[in-house]
Amino acid sequence: MMKDETPAPRTSDLPPCPLTHYCQCFIDELYQYSGSYWKEYFVENPQNERLMEKLCTHILTCPTCTTALTRARRVRLQQRCALREVLNEGEQKVPSTTEQTLIALRSWQKSLQKTSAGTNNSKS
Ligand SMILES: [Zn+2]
Repeated sequence: MMKDETPAPRTSDLPPCPLTHYCQCFIDELYQYSGSYWKEYFVENPQNERLMEKLCTHILTCPTCTTALTRARRVRLQQRCALREVLNEGEQKVPSTTEQTLIALRSWQKSLQKTSAGTNNSKS
């Protein structure tokens, strides 16, 4: 008996699809970009137009790819949420960047005023 090395829980009941890999590669493009983006993209990369067209129609009819993409999307959402939590925690621990930027700006303004005053004095 052959052992499958890549664990694919729950996909085993779906037929394997050779296009799933491509669908996952193009997940950002498939989900995020608008039609106008694609027009420009295809003008620049005409060789990809047929592939994308194929994928777009294929996803609608292929349960394997639909499942794979839904799962990939969910994983991305979870990663994004986790990242946001980390960022929120970081903001609470570290003094806010806005404040630090303002302090830096103020000291920079002061040094500017000093130098401009200095040049004014030397001029006269
Ligand atoms: Zn498929």
